[in-house]
Amino acid sequence: MPTIFLDGAQGEGGGQILRSALTLSMITGQPFRLENLRAGRAKPGLLRQHLTAVLAAAEICGARVEGAAPGSRTLVFVPSAIRGGDYRFAIGTAGSCTLVLQTVLPALWYADGASTLRISGGTHNPAAPPADFLLRAWLPLVRRMGVQSEIVLLRHGFYPAGGGEIHARAAPGRPVAIDLLGRGDWRAARATAIVAGIPEAVAQRELAQLARTLPQVSGEIRVLPEREGPGNALLVEVEHAFLSDVFTAFGARGLAAEKVADLVAAKVRAYLDSPAAVGEHLADQLALPMALAGGGSFTTCQPSSHLTTNLAVIERFLPLRSQIEYAEGRWLVGIG
Ligand code: ATP
Repeated sequence: MPTIFLDGAQGEGGGQILRSALTLSMITGQPFRLENLRAGRAKPGLLRQHLTAVLAAAEICGARVEGAAPGSRTLVFVPSAIRGGDYRFAIGTAGSCTLVLQTVLPALWYADGASTLRISGGTHNPAAPPADFLLRAWLPLVRRMGVQSEIVLLRHGFYPAGGGEIHARAAPGRPVAIDLLGRGDWRAARATAIVAGIPEAVAQRELAQLARTLPQVSGEIRVLPEREGPGNALLVEVEHAFLSDVFTAFGARGLAAEKVADLVAAKVRAYLDSPAAVGEHLADQLALPMALAGGGSFTTCQPSSHLTTNLAVIERFLPLRSQIEYAEGRWLVGIG
C-alpha cells in the first residue's frame, strides 16, 4: 500500500496527529511517514507518552518503525496484522495512560481475538482526558456504537509523579454509526473532588465554592492514599438522558481551591448554556470511533482545532468527508 505523508505542523500541531495516524494505520494497513512531529509545541518531537504510543502500536500490529526515539521529529510506521493478546505498556513518566489507551484500544476491535491492556503512567493529567472522563463520558458512547470494551482505573497517577495504572479489555467487533444531535433531558450533575497527599480541606473548599456557583451539582470527596499523590482534580459529570460529559480542573501550587472550582464551573456553565450534545473534548475524541463506524454526527459547543485537525488526519486514511456547520446556537459535525 502507498505511504501516506503527514505534516505534524498542520492545524493543532500536537500529539493527536501522531496518535490518530497510528490508530488508522494499524486498522487500514496503510503505512505513514510523519514529519515535523508536534511542531506546534514548545518541546517538539516524541515525548515519553508519544513514544509509548508508537511502541505499543508497533507491538500490537508487528509494525516496522523508523524514528521511534525520544525527541524524534520524523516517524515512519509500516503496520502488519493486528494481534489480540495480553499487553502491558509503561510510560515511565506521568505521561497520559489514557491517550495511549485511546490510540490502541480501537485497533484491538480489529484484532483476531480478545485482548487485555495494562498501561501505567499518569491517569489524571492536565491537557489529557482524565481516566474518569474516559469511564463516564467517552467509553459509554463508544460502547453505544456496539463495540465491547471495558476500562478499569487501578491506581491514580498525577503529574509530575505518575505511577497510575489503567486496565482495559477489548473484544473484536466493528463500531456502528450513531447520531448525537441533542443531549436529552437534564438528569443530574455530580462533582468529585480528588485529593492524594493533599489536605482533605482543599477538596471541601472546592466543593463549597462549587455549591455557591452551581447549586444544582452534588458533591463527593475521593481521598486517595498519599502514595498516589500529590495530586488534586475537581471533576463534574453532567448527566443528560442521552449522554454524560465530564469537565475537569486541576489543583496546582499557588492556585486557590476556590479558583479551581470557578474554573470547572465556567466550563460546566458554558456547556449547560449551549444546546450542544457534547463539549469540546468529547467532540474531538468521538471523531475517530465515528469515522471507523463509517459515519455519524454530533453537535458541539465550539469546534476546536483538535477536532478539525483530527478530522483532517482521518480524511487522509479513510474515504470520508466531514462537514461542520453552525445552526441554532451549536455546531453540527457530520462524518460520512
Ligand atoms: P501535545 O502534543 O499537546 O503535548 P498531547 O500529545 O497531550 O499533547 P494533544 O494533541 O494536545 O496531545 O491532545 C490532547 C487530547 O486530550 C485531546 O483529545 C483533548 O480533547 C484531550 N483533553 C485535554 N484536556 C481534557 C479534559 N480536561 N478532559 C477531557 N479530555 C481532554
